[in-house]
Amino acid sequence: MELQNLPDKKVLELCAQYGAAALEARRKFLGLLPEVNRRGLWRRKGYGSIFEFAAKMAGVSEEQVRNVLNLERKFAVLPQLRKALVSGRVSVNKLIRVAAVVTPENEDFWAKKVEILSQNAVATLVRDMKQAGMELRAQPVSQEKHKFVKLPEGVADKLEKLAAKGLDIGQLLEEFLDKREAELAQAETKLQEKMELEIRDRSRHLPVEVKRLLLRRHGDKCAVEGCRKPAEQVHHLRPWARGGGQEPDNLKPLCRGHHELAHAGSGARAAGGGTAGSGLQCGPAR
Ligand SMILES: [Zn+2]
Ligand SMILES: [Zn+2]
Repeated sequence: MELQNLPDKKVLELCAQYGAAALEARRKFLGLLPEVNRRGLWRRKGYGSIFEFAAKMAGVSEEQVRNVLNLERKFAVLPQLRKALVSGRVSVNKLIRVAAVVTPENEDFWAKKVEILSQNAVATLVRDMKQAGMELRAQPVSQEKHKFVKLPEGVADKLEKLAAKGLDIGQLLEEFLDKREAELAQAETKLQEKMELEIRDRSRHLPVEVKRLLLRRHGDKCAVEGCRKPAEQVHHLRPWARGGGQEPDNLKPLCRGHHELAHAGSGARAAGGGTAGSGLQCGPAR
């Protein structure tokens, strides 16, 4: 059949099929470059450099060539990752993410992760690991530590006046935060009861009250501590397929990376719940 007569679905299927094959071929080509470079084979084909060789033969950028050569050097003591690179099984962009944290001691761990996780999830996991490591090493300097709290002048003025009267501002704010926590818990319980009454809402649509509550508790950011990415998906701690519902305490707004990690059942700080390989798509956050 002529291309213009093919149905949309078929055209898209062909794109997906050829696209995947093109990416695989590109990974394999990149994997060959360190060997080509070692043997100086680019000269044999009349090219001026390995960069020209890669650009003319496969449209690969100079930066990408450098990345492969650097990674392969770095992986000299990391045989599993080296193999993943030169065989073209794992992309250079994904391997770059782990290069900063991988050691011969933790290579096993990372070799498995790069096989099963997406590039985004690998990057998230690396960030979590680095953050966890940093917290163990040292407390951040004070000006770094409270970078998200800036009081509007009006509020600062009010607090200043109260402090001048001898009130303990720390305790005051503590009480305020406790009160907020109690209010949220109460709102959650109420919502929970209401939803249980309404014969378990099994629709995938997230009720607007639940959305509002999640926003009140977590803001619009990922619920994993220390993560500042926007929450893009709502994760079900007890999976949908096993009867988990849309009750607020079964839900956690997460960024894409942490969501994938929750389902892969790994993470420096577990995002919670999520069973390995459940393959379940939880809902969008908004
Ligand atoms: Zn999920
Ligand atoms: Zn996150």
